[in-house]
Amino acid sequence: MARDRRKPTTRLTHLGRDPKRFAGAVNPPVFHASTILSPDLAGYQAGGQRRFEKGATVYGRFGTPTQHALQDALTDLEGGADTLLFPSGLAAITTALMTVLASGDHVLVADSAYRPTRSLCDGLLRRFGVETTYFDPTLDGDALMGLIRPETKAILLESPGSMTFEVQDVPALAAAAKSKGLAVLMDNTWATPLFFRPLEHGVDLSIQAATKYIVGHADAMLGAVTANDEWASALRKTTFELGMAAAPDDAYLGMRGLRTLDVRLRRHWQNALELAAWLQARDEVASVLYPPLEQHPQHGLWKRDFDGASGLFGVVLSHPYSDAAVASMCDGYELFGIGASWGGFESLVIAGRPHRTATAWKAAAPVLRFHAGLEDAGDLIADLEAGFQRLNAATDE
Ligand SMILES: *Cc1c(COP(=O)(O)O)cnc(C)c1O
Repeated sequence: MARDRRKPTTRLTHLGRDPKRFAGAVNPPVFHASTILSPDLAGYQAGGQRRFEKGATVYGRFGTPTQHALQDALTDLEGGADTLLFPSGLAAITTALMTVLASGDHVLVADSAYRPTRSLCDGLLRRFGVETTYFDPTLDGDALMGLIRPETKAILLESPGSMTFEVQDVPALAAAAKSKGLAVLMDNTWATPLFFRPLEHGVDLSIQAATKYIVGHADAMLGAVTANDEWASALRKTTFELGMAAAPDDAYLGMRGLRTLDVRLRRHWQNALELAAWLQARDEVASVLYPPLEQHPQHGLWKRDFDGASGLFGVVLSHPYSDAAVASMCDGYELFGIGASWGGFESLVIAGRPHRTATAWKAAAPVLRFHAGLEDAGDLIADLEAGFQRLNAATDE
């Protein structure tokens, strides 16, 4: 189905499906292929060019109907021209940046960006002659203009930011960047295209760590980049030059996850709201970093631009609790697993200190990051309450 005006939840159910093509099967099957045979030599010789056509099966690396189905579905949801798939979210970020940058260029990156994005900028990109400036994620368009140099070619947004959840004024930052000819990239993993569509707000390349909510079951690694008309063919070319490809089984799991994205996200959102409200009232908590809360500094931007919220939020503790006390709280949780990644059906927690270079993170106390899973919210709150008892017991000793 080409872009239609039906609601995203209806489109999630039908996108990327073509039962008539697959013996009536409701879901596009998993095609494992490297070699794709051509009917004749002329067809083979034309294949090199056909890899730039959407949906062409030319060679396994360029995708089979399994990957193409997910690409089509994400292109529709994001409102873009084309989507490419990657073996991880980080590979998607890497390829998007390498699509728009060359040696000698300068890139602006939000100071609250996902930590491995920073490692990429400070490592490989620097080695290839690209300089990065990190900027305060709460900057407005005018202030951003002051950071743009003649050699600045791109800006990478991430909203809300990793660990600290600042919401960016995406339309204002994108407009300022576009006025100077920059390519605008955004990591949209937190909201997914269901709750925020970057391209509608002036972004050129929207990036998803599909590993998180799109796969949704903590069992596959997958990335995606959706480009507008301006960048679609450059993205396809860079992806193929780098040899990036997502495995058919993982693309299938991404497609399967997409079907239930709407119901899952709404439950994650509702559970996160309940946990956040309860946590906010606790003495052990200084603030909860969750954009749907009215107390969140950029709540207004979230309300203006987003259609919903996911289940990931931060908590700043109210005292500089010792690492041992925080560990005793986290280690004893029965429902919150300790682990990176998120977006699966289960609840998670990690603790750390946000990494900043352009701005200062002032709170001395540790920051916890919770993922509200699909469990019963009351059961999750009971687990949190027992955790605070451990935290206080370890602090009073
Ligand atoms: C996890 C994550 C990524 C990277 O995704 P992987 O699939 O783990 O490589 C990128 N951006 C954000 C915001 C993430 O949380």
